[in-house]
Amino acid sequence: MSNSKFIVIAAPSGSGKTTIVNKLLKEKNLNLSFSVSATSRAPRNNELDGLNYFFLSKDEFIKRIENKEFIEWEEVYENTYYGTLISELENSSQKNLIFDIDVVGGLNIKKKFPKQTITIFIKPPSINELETRLINRNLDSDSSIKTRINKAKDEILLADKFDYIVENNILETSYSKVLELVNSFINE
Ligand code: 5GP
Repeated sequence: MSNSKFIVIAAPSGSGKTTIVNKLLKEKNLNLSFSVSATSRAPRNNELDGLNYFFLSKDEFIKRIENKEFIEWEEVYENTYYGTLISELENSSQKNLIFDIDVVGGLNIKKKFPKQTITIFIKPPSINELETRLINRNLDSDSSIKTRINKAKDEILLADKFDYIVENNILETSYSKVLELVNSFINE
């Protein structure tokens, strides 16, 4: 764990964060591995246990909180828990780790590992644009979209606590910026 660098990409749900993370994972020279989080939410259609998330029941998640198995965890949405397991960091000794986690979780990783971690906030062009993207991707119910938009408003207020803010207007342009930042952090 000691030599790894940690890359935290955080952004409101629907900001293009997952696309950016997946593209970074394909850059061989960055030697990145995805930090698989645990969650108590149900898997979506194409999601696999152990690959996208470790899917746990709410009771199992709470048991693991009590056993102190998490580096950080959050009740990201009411009654839905997400967290990074200590074991995930321990198993990654040869690799740099990339996190697709919420804003508060990302800042907590930075607090625990300040020198090892770079935090990048992906900012959506506007709340209206974010809402359109969430509707168009067709993954969430109306009430889930509402919850995500409310959370996004809070998250944008925390953006300036991040090392860098990258606006996601055109994916290719934002991706180049993120790649440049991650590349120089890993190779510094
Ligand atoms: P989703 O349900 O769309 O997969 O994720 C909802 C939110 O939870 C996203 O902002 C995602 O980045 C965040 N999230 C995923 N894993 C973790 C984690 O381990 N810790 C925290 N704090 N947030 C997470």
